[in-house]
Amino acid sequence: MSTVFSKIIAREIPADIVYEDELVLAFRDIAPSAPTHILIIPKREIATANDVTAEDEAALGRLFTVAAKIAAEEGIAENGYRLIVNCNEHGGQEVFHLHMHLLGGRSLGPMLARK
Ligand code: 5GP
Repeated sequence: MSTVFSKIIAREIPADIVYEDELVLAFRDIAPSAPTHILIIPKREIATANDVTAEDEAALGRLFTVAAKIAAEEGIAENGYRLIVNCNEHGGQEVFHLHMHLLGGRSLGPMLARK
């Protein structure tokens, strides 16, 4: 089933796009959790991290090279940042088109809240 991210790829709804090539698209998160919060997505609609195949390796590798490029452009590479891919309910996934969050611009604290 198609998600809002496919509509962003198709330019059917607006987004603040910061990078695009033949494999991936990157745009600012609509509800940022940090000063820099960018989503990097494969153009092929892969629902979750459970659904990746060997055919997706080029696009998924590209997520990392694009994240590094954008981090440098955003001026957050040296201080650092966090890359997150959420999967399904326990991972807190809300949009079922696999995406990498690039978060930075402030200290993000420990990776998970301790219970
Ligand atoms: P998830 O929880 O699935 O890993 O993250 C989904 C992310 O997509 C959330 O951070 C949410 O704010 C973002 N998001 C949801 N809908 C839209 C939208 O229409 N446009 C943009 N730019 N971001 C969205």
